[in-house]
Amino acid sequence: MSTALSLISSVLHPYTCPCCGTITGAEDELCDYCHEMIERCDPAVRCMRCGLDKKLCQCKRHVFHFDGCVAPFKNSGIVRKAMHRFKFRRKLSSAGFFAKNMAFCVKNEYRDIKFDGVCFVPMHLKNRLMRGYNQSRILAEGVAKLLRLPVYDLLCCKRSGVSQHNLNEKQRFKNVKGLYSAKCDLSGKVLLLVDDIKTTGATLDACAKQLLAAGADGVYCVTALMSGKEKRK
Ligand SMILES: [Zn+2]
Ligand SMILES: [Zn+2]
Repeated sequence: MSTALSLISSVLHPYTCPCCGTITGAEDELCDYCHEMIERCDPAVRCMRCGLDKKLCQCKRHVFHFDGCVAPFKNSGIVRKAMHRFKFRRKLSSAGFFAKNMAFCVKNEYRDIKFDGVCFVPMHLKNRLMRGYNQSRILAEGVAKLLRLPVYDLLCCKRSGVSQHNLNEKQRFKNVKGLYSAKCDLSGKVLLLVDDIKTTGATLDACAKQLLAAGADGVYCVTALMSGKEKRK
């Protein structure tokens, strides 16, 4: 784009902070305030398997099927609100911001893994028609593009109206039992599984289990946000 055209475009469609909407100078960048305030996951203290800070590690309570889980942000404060707008209020312009940070996380923390492709947690058709989109698929497409990997629709969700909201950890694992199935043979594939938020890991675990049962060699997860057991703000 010529300088004049990009100037006109930046006036007509200014870049805004994905968390607070303040006008910023660059696409998918936080404003200075949100940059300071946003809570990032610290890769130096995370458990390699469940992805949580080591002091909150869940691996004693659950044997997860996935090989690892990483996320750029904690599920709290301003970024939690931004995710809520993306997920429930059609603020789809935030997808680029989340995907960019997730791809960065994958590049850093799964440096030695050679992925065959990216897949995502599916939504039942009825739920997808109600919402109009599957936010995990949108994130997977963004991440795959940045990592130059293909994105595959590998899983199907067998029941509608299954919400994990308001359930405790034990109930969440029970709730997703038998909920997903793999669509094809995945022999020897190493996959990156994408979801919006990891809360207990029950959904990712149920999906990873089916991908492995279909022959996948390894499943590594990335989500935009990750909850620990810490109190939400
Ligand atoms: Zn901001
Ligand atoms: Zn752990």
